[in-house]
Amino acid sequence: MRCFCYQDSARRAHSIAAQGGINAAKNYPNDGDSIWRLFFDTVKGGDFRSREANVYRLAQLSGNIIDQCVAQGVPFAREYGGLLDNRSFGGAQVSRTFYARGQTGQQLLLGAYQALARQVGAGAVKMFPRTEMLDVVLVDGEARGIVVRDLVTGKVSSHAAHAVVLATGGYANAYFLSTNAKGCNVTATWRAHKRGAAFANPCFTQIHPTCIPPSGDYQSKLTLMSESLRNDGRIWVPKQRGDNRAANDIPEDERDYYLERLYPSFGNLTPRDIASRRAKEAVDEGRGVGPLANGVYLDFRDAISRLGRNVIEERYGNLFEMYERITGEDPYAVPMRIYPAPHYTMGGLWVDYNLMSTVPGLFVIGEANFSDHGANRLGASALMQGLADGYFILPYTVGDYLALTGPSKVDPEHSAFGGVEREVRERSERLLAVNGNRTVDTFHRELGNLMWERCGMSRDRKGLEQALGRIPALRDEFWQDVRVPGKGEDFNQSLEKAGRLADFLEFAELMCQDALDREESCGGHFREEYQTPEGEAQRDDERFAYVAAWEFKGVGCPPTLHKEPLTFEYVPLSQRSYK
Ligand SMILES: Cc1cc2nc3c(=O)[nH]c(=O)nc-3n(C[C@H](O)[C@H](O)[C@H](O)COP(=O)(O)OP(=O)(O)OC[C@H]3O[C@@H](n4cnc5c(N)ncnc54)[C@H](O)[C@@H]3O)c2cc1C
Repeated sequence: MRCFCYQDSARRAHSIAAQGGINAAKNYPNDGDSIWRLFFDTVKGGDFRSREANVYRLAQLSGNIIDQCVAQGVPFAREYGGLLDNRSFGGAQVSRTFYARGQTGQQLLLGAYQALARQVGAGAVKMFPRTEMLDVVLVDGEARGIVVRDLVTGKVSSHAAHAVVLATGGYANAYFLSTNAKGCNVTATWRAHKRGAAFANPCFTQIHPTCIPPSGDYQSKLTLMSESLRNDGRIWVPKQRGDNRAANDIPEDERDYYLERLYPSFGNLTPRDIASRRAKEAVDEGRGVGPLANGVYLDFRDAISRLGRNVIEERYGNLFEMYERITGEDPYAVPMRIYPAPHYTMGGLWVDYNLMSTVPGLFVIGEANFSDHGANRLGASALMQGLADGYFILPYTVGDYLALTGPSKVDPEHSAFGGVEREVRERSERLLAVNGNRTVDTFHRELGNLMWERCGMSRDRKGLEQALGRIPALRDEFWQDVRVPGKGEDFNQSLEKAGRLADFLEFAELMCQDALDREESCGGHFREEYQTPEGEAQRDDERFAYVAAWEFKGVGCPPTLHKEPLTFEYVPLSQRSYK
């Protein structure tokens, strides 16, 4: 087995950033949780745009994941009796989120990495860090390997295999500013798409409600404050527009705890799409807080007086410290300021129940596939899905595929590899040859702004059509005016970034096309034309209860839409309500 990643170690995959936790229906707190309930919450949370069967399997596997991780040494938080502790996340009224302080992803990743390192030591896996996959190679229509670039030397080479697994993460960096690591990109999945793998629901992106608001025009990264903070923090804005008094000077009766007011049963724990839209609404109304009036408060005053500072410090100490380092404000003394930001992508390569894409032999797991989250992912469910895919589904389904295809010989000398390698080299050479005047980042920022404005937290036909007019022009400008210094046969981060942005510039068009095509609002996809009188998402189940799986037809050519109908046998279709 050969394993590739572009970081210097697989330990640095973006998963390391996951803070809050991982869900499992173990019902340790005995608060009425069950596999059924996790299944129900996830189908409802995804606004009825996920496959029921997949979600049920996910809920069933959730408990095994925790056992597996504990066996691998993951130090989950424990409560005083020694049992694993749980907390709550949005969209659920039970406590089912297992966590390791604010570092759950890091600890899970270290557990997985230790197991991987053991296999490397045993000679079963060969690891290729600092190596970027730049294409998939198909032989007779089946995935038979990849072409990679060594990011230190610039050498392009091929690797042949019986099957290829993409676990390459999400594409929220299409927006430039996001909570994702700067390296996250769409290249692996987009290149696979261009080779025939259908891309599903690309417009389903998640905007996370609790991020630190942007502080200026030159920022290149946004920081998430974990959703777990909504367990104890209360979200509010001043009742009056333009109220610029300091938070602690605003009396209780002049504060609007708008989530508690609008959604009394879920309060601050409404799902992310709803919490994000309501924050945008408050800021758009002129009730935003902070120097740029672009945030809402997340206030721990009441939790500190109820539980004591020590308890809050124990639960969220590292998050509070991170917040203070970034903003210079002490969240124990003044409320945090938060605002929604691009965070996660529910869309991804289409996969069947066995996690295989429309290209035989090409499997896709984790955030890279279109996954089980429908139009909106519930907090702490991404790690659950990624680990279910990797630990409990893929090992069986890849084996099944290999058994069915038989012990064929993989031939690294097959002409298909040479052809794809040549294309990869030519692309790098083309990027280096432009020698224009603008940096990669200026183009990326422009694309990101456009996507945020037109295909972000809310969308409408006019804006999407404008974006679809502008993206091809921006792509042409990029290929005529980008400046990529350095050489191809060398360590060259500008070239890496340029290649990734070139893919975003093609992919963004598909995102907008998908968003335009879906004439309904559901979960993270909020079309302004389709909303209830109360401002909630209005689905159109008659016309849009399907997975949109797009087939590539050429850059700038309209893609072909294939529809996978969704049927709901066990969770009856209904309008989501968190009131
Ligand atoms: C700040 C933050 C906090 C989060 N907190 C939580 C949480 O508390 N709970 C939760 O459930 N979810 C959380 N999420 C979501 C969750 O972390 C991610 O969805 C999940 O970690 C993705 O895992 P992955 O393995 O699919 O991808 P990643 O962890 O992104 O890994 C992708 C891997 O693919 C490699 N790769 C990518 N492209 C290439 C290429 N072209 N060539 C070679 N290698 C490549 C990378 O090197 C990397 O190793 C959070 C997300 C963010 C941004």
